[in-house]
Amino acid sequence: MLATGKEKLDRMRDGRAVYIGAERVDDVTAHPAFRQGAQTIAGLYDLKADPAKRELFTYEENGERYALQWLRCRTRDDLVRRMRALKATADATYGFIGRSPEQVAGLITGLATNPSVLENLHAGFGDNLLRYYEHARRNDLYLSFAVTPASGRKSAELFPGQHRDDPNLQVVAEDDSGVTVSGMKMLATSAVYADEILIGNLTPIDEKLKSEAITAALPLNAPGVSLWSRQPYAYPVRHEADYPLSYRFDETDSVLVCDQVKIPWERVFLHNDAAMSRRIYIETPANCYQNHHSNIRFWAKMELFVGLASRICQANGTDRIPAVRETLGRFAAFEALIGGLVHGQIEAWEAWPEGFATPNRRIMYAALNWCQEHHTEIIDMLRTLLGGYPLVMPASIDVVTDAALRERFERWWKTPSIEAVDRHKLYKLAWDIVGSEFAGRHMLYEKFYAGNSIVVRNQSDREAPWERFHGIVDGLLARIQVPEETR
Ligand SMILES: Cc1cc2nc3c(=O)[nH]c(=O)nc-3n(C[C@H](O)[C@H](O)[C@H](O)COP(=O)(O)OP(=O)(O)OC[C@H]3O[C@@H](n4cnc5c(N)ncnc54)[C@H](O)[C@@H]3O)c2cc1C
Repeated sequence: MLATGKEKLDRMRDGRAVYIGAERVDDVTAHPAFRQGAQTIAGLYDLKADPAKRELFTYEENGERYALQWLRCRTRDDLVRRMRALKATADATYGFIGRSPEQVAGLITGLATNPSVLENLHAGFGDNLLRYYEHARRNDLYLSFAVTPASGRKSAELFPGQHRDDPNLQVVAEDDSGVTVSGMKMLATSAVYADEILIGNLTPIDEKLKSEAITAALPLNAPGVSLWSRQPYAYPVRHEADYPLSYRFDETDSVLVCDQVKIPWERVFLHNDAAMSRRIYIETPANCYQNHHSNIRFWAKMELFVGLASRICQANGTDRIPAVRETLGRFAAFEALIGGLVHGQIEAWEAWPEGFATPNRRIMYAALNWCQEHHTEIIDMLRTLLGGYPLVMPASIDVVTDAALRERFERWWKTPSIEAVDRHKLYKLAWDIVGSEFAGRHMLYEKFYAGNSIVVRNQSDREAPWERFHGIVDGLLARIQVPEETR
């Protein structure tokens, strides 16, 4: 059963502990730092619950309907359906909500196609995962995750002789009813809006740190859980027209802090196995399902970028200059490329694990790598096309509330191709992509959300058919004639 936006907003008011510095936020749906973001998430739920969009966003299994992000695909057609639903929600937020309700759902759904990977490590944990998957899809839960050590320490060897309390989230006690965890984990994007959070590890951790391997799900209002938010970008914004993206699309990032948090065994999926705490995501389609969504989301963002680049050039009066058209051609080529990479993952789908269909892993990782490598360059291309015009716009659109200022603004800030107020909105939108704090955060996000570049490229290295490539070289070498001995 799909939740409505109102139901989703009600679930956010569950007493969770969110901090902005020393300020405790009691209701994220009412606080000025978060309320617009909360509305954006509620809007996504309403979009999908709309009976007229049932075919686009939902599927039926055993007489019940679920949101399509939870579909364990069995055929190419399933993959196409799932992709279309993910693209429609990414379009609705222009690709700016990276950890939207479709994201971590993909990870849990991928695990649920092969729970035996967990079951083989510890009897009962695979069943726990399947029951959790059922619970999450039935209640249309919004899941976030914190799967990166926040201390900066990846290995016990890296900081020999370091004497401090170990702040990494880890199991500090266990008994018949479950485990108790304490410590912190980065970086719980969207957790202030989500229903639950998955803890675990997406990057390798040292075998000596196996108490940190704990992989489990917990509600965000669990006793002892708090979220320490970074600066919320919507907080200081008075008018949407001044910071259009900061105002509506700040998905938020928080450090997850757990102080003696009790997790019952039925919510635990892995315990005490450092190596497998990461491998479960690549030995199942979990990592692929999740990052297939990341690729689709980047595609939605790229569509906005290409349109915006063109609109900026029209407003600047540069759009007919051949050198500028070449840059616009590059933008258009980038958009077609990422769209093609998404479709390619489905055309070259893999029958894996048995009985299921998964987007092509190599193409998915190649797209992930391409997006990570090119985002900064794309933003710089936009910045170069812009010129200094964002800074020509007044500090606030509230100039239009003063008749004298408005008259001058409308007369002098317009150009032959665009009215002053529209120009203000356009350049402020562009500034929120290339220059504001929101923009800076997205630069970091696109560089790191799937791990640093070493981690991302390692995925392509691991999946590459090196034997086939070597065979090609060896075959060619074998054909090369060497002259025979003549003397
Ligand atoms: C905006 C944002 C949102 C995020 N959201 C989430 C989320 O929702 N959930 C979550 O769990 N995590 C999230 N993250 C965290 C993300 O997973 C990590 O940032 C990412 O894994 C990189 O880890 P790190 O930040 O510790 O940087 P590091 O891995 O330490 O990398 C920093 C730099 O050091 C270099 N480096 C590191 N190790 C080596 C090495 N061995 N050799 C050479 N160079 C090296 C890297 O290449 C990089 O340049 C988010 C991060 C950001 C920025």
